[in-house]
Amino acid sequence: MRYASQSVWVDIVSDLGNELRAALTGGQLTVEYQPQFELEGATATPGRPVAVEALCRWHHPTRGLVMPDVFIPVAEREHIITALDAHVLLVAAQQVRQWQLDGYALGLSVNASPTHMSPEYADAVIDALDDLGLSHGSLAIEITESPAPQLAPEAIAILPRLRSEGIAVSLDDFGGGDTTIDMLDALPIDEIKIDRSITQRTDDDADHEVAAVVAHAERQGWRVVAEGIETEDDLERSRRRGCHRGQGFLWGPPVPAPRLEEMLAG
Ligand code: C2E
Ligand code: MG
Ligand code: MG
Repeated sequence: MRYASQSVWVDIVSDLGNELRAALTGGQLTVEYQPQFELEGATATPGRPVAVEALCRWHHPTRGLVMPDVFIPVAEREHIITALDAHVLLVAAQQVRQWQLDGYALGLSVNASPTHMSPEYADAVIDALDDLGLSHGSLAIEITESPAPQLAPEAIAILPRLRSEGIAVSLDDFGGGDTTIDMLDALPIDEIKIDRSITQRTDDDADHEVAAVVAHAERQGWRVVAEGIETEDDLERSRRRGCHRGQGFLWGPPVPAPRLEEMLAG
């Protein structure tokens, strides 16, 4: 029984894998943008975003909208994550370059799965930026720790090359996993994103934890971004804790490019 149900599961996953492969070439994968703001002086009716995070969406012909929490693990398992990440980077870098040409000084963050990071990946990122004329300093690459508290050694080896090219490396979802503050110094990073589970915690322990991360980050010259700011209270708390930037539903969810343009213009 157990074996049968497992094989059904494997079939479903590989079906999804094949569909995802088709989606990649068939235009079903789109990119949404969520704005980031400087927290100093930020309010719920803020000025201009300073950067956007690109987040992938799958418009499946029969299943409807599929979210990344479902398809990113499939893409990783099926070894198409690097192609997917590269697709998102190309689309988003082109879009942000256009916004810059339109007069909006915006940075771009993209997510990258460290599980299959290779030297070819780094080359592809740099080539893409150079082809599009997007400055290396405009880009941050967000990586999340692997299931174990350490990132894959292969991924860690790629990161210094990206940084030496002026591309920022950001550690996503910090505080949501097992990485501790002592482990950070071993990582070649420029930015830490505080997981929304910590951003939204109101207790003193969380206050101290984030303040300690910020103090450490400032000594290292890293930026700290608070994720998951949903309320004025979340904003006030993150500001009090010293976070430099924020992102969250208070300002808006990820949206397609035209909606983000309305925000830029408004
Ligand atoms: P992430 O990189 O941590 O992205 C932030 C996620 O939190 C997004 O979910 C966003 O919609 C959600 N979020 C933002 N603000 C708030 C808030 O105030 N409250 C709440 N409850 N949620 C908020 P999304 O778009 O579903 O993405 C989920 C994860 O999937 C991402 O987490 C990222 O790890 C991964 N992902 C998305 N796109 C890509 C991609 O192109 N490549 C890779 N490798 N991973 C991706
Ligand atoms: Mg992210
Ligand atoms: Mg995150």
